[in-house]
Amino acid sequence: METFPDKAYWSAKAAQMEFPTQLFIDGKWQDAISGKRFPSVNPATGALLTEVAEADFADVNIAVANAREACEDGRWSQLPPRERGRRLIRLAEIIERHREELALMETLDVGKPIHDSYHIDMAGIIRTFAWHGEATDKVYDEIAPTEAGSIGMITREPLGIVAAVVPWNFPLEMAAWKVAPALAAGNSVILKPAEQSPLTALRLAELALEAGIPAGVLNVLPGYGPTAGKALGLHPDVDCLAFTGSTEVGKLFLQYSGQSNMKRVWLECGGKSPNIIFADCDDLDAAAQAAAMAIFFNQGEVCSAGSRLLVENSIRESFIEKVIAAGAFLKPGDPLDPDTKIGAIISNEQLTRVMGYIEAGREQGARVRLGGERVSLESGGYYLAPTIFDNVQSHMTIAQEEIFGPVLAVLGFDSEDEALRIANDSTYGLGAAVWTGNISRAHRVAKRLRAGTVWINAYEEGDATVPFGGFKQSGFGRDKSLHAIDKYTDLKTTWIHIDPLKI
Ligand code: NAD
Repeated sequence: METFPDKAYWSAKAAQMEFPTQLFIDGKWQDAISGKRFPSVNPATGALLTEVAEADFADVNIAVANAREACEDGRWSQLPPRERGRRLIRLAEIIERHREELALMETLDVGKPIHDSYHIDMAGIIRTFAWHGEATDKVYDEIAPTEAGSIGMITREPLGIVAAVVPWNFPLEMAAWKVAPALAAGNSVILKPAEQSPLTALRLAELALEAGIPAGVLNVLPGYGPTAGKALGLHPDVDCLAFTGSTEVGKLFLQYSGQSNMKRVWLECGGKSPNIIFADCDDLDAAAQAAAMAIFFNQGEVCSAGSRLLVENSIRESFIEKVIAAGAFLKPGDPLDPDTKIGAIISNEQLTRVMGYIEAGREQGARVRLGGERVSLESGGYYLAPTIFDNVQSHMTIAQEEIFGPVLAVLGFDSEDEALRIANDSTYGLGAAVWTGNISRAHRVAKRLRAGTVWINAYEEGDATVPFGGFKQSGFGRDKSLHAIDKYTDLKTTWIHIDPLKI
């Protein structure tokens, strides 16, 4: 079996790590016009990692002008699809070569366990670039079945400049889900990582240049949302804005689009996903393990986290005990220790926000069955114990709002209809799961759940081949699969007149 490096190895590597610190525009490192910089902090310790140039409106203008030039001269869009694909596949190979470095950088920047960064995030990122690279010459245009005197050609064209604004929970993976299909379709891209996690996106830009993605085609602008993010949203020469983040900010991008050039906006937003356990589930132990991981994996900082656990009342107490046992095992610890299953919360601000939800849960009458407290480690940093609330009612704040932390709300139900009513009682519709041994019930319930992804007797399965995205206020448009490419192309119809055959 392959051995995974130990904590001493990762700590030594971390001590030597050099971080990117500037904006990446037109294939070059550049300072912000304003000269401003912002701190990048390691959530596992609270210590400063580095300071990064802070992009603002002026830098966005420069990046857009460069990206536009790249669109106009066709240095990327006019390459044969197969050649674009070859370079994206090369990028996947280069990321694989830098896998340790990128995984470690991600862990230092966001506090997630190194084991997960390496095995989960990086695996997904490599596959995303490789898959979309392989897809470039597998997508065909169409000829419409029109009458004999004409040909109606339906072709896909790149939109031009795609801006991608992404969150901090899976910084490079969320970026890859946008950047890979947008580049595969022939667009130029401006990527704005979250201010909490700018580092791996910057490194990606450098590696992309090495892979042969020409200067100006992938630009990276770290900066804050209300300045750099808003400037991209409002820019009249950005053709498409692909966003992953909160529903609140997603709505702002719809406004920015309406106030500017009606750019296409694609939104992957928040969730409050129900995980439904019926008493007839074949393997309740497996379901309990999965229920704990569904909420505690990545410190609960997962848009599709199973944050509402709906359990049939006849098995509720025994099932909760199993989930508590699984959760109690997941102690927060040093993200550089390969045995750590739960790392640090992204920031003190986010930890305070999550603690506010725990307080609200207590005040509204829910009962803490596990955790509910901050955890202090010698290293400092921001840690929270896995937390489970029982006696939750669907109207409570902790059952309605996205907490984005390791906090599980358990609700009981007595019938299939009641389970569905509670599950669908949400403004969100990202993921949902149903656990049952009854195949008819599994299909019935899956069909009636208002969610973009439904898992049956599983949680969090995903693949590059399968679309991911939400119903309702979880957003619209899909990441991954060929459906992602649809978001980054417009359809053009070209009519060709043919002189009719004279008989
Ligand atoms: P956020 O909405 O605060 O920030 C996301 C991005 O938007 C960041 O880059 C930020 O700088 C930018 N931004 C913030 N305010 C802005 C403004 N006024 N104008 C323009 N841009 C602005 O979200 P977050 O806290 O970084 O991430 C957590 C959220 O992301 C959660 O709601 C989570 O559910 C969601 N998320 C969704 C998915 C999905 O695929 N549906 C995946 C991961 C995370």
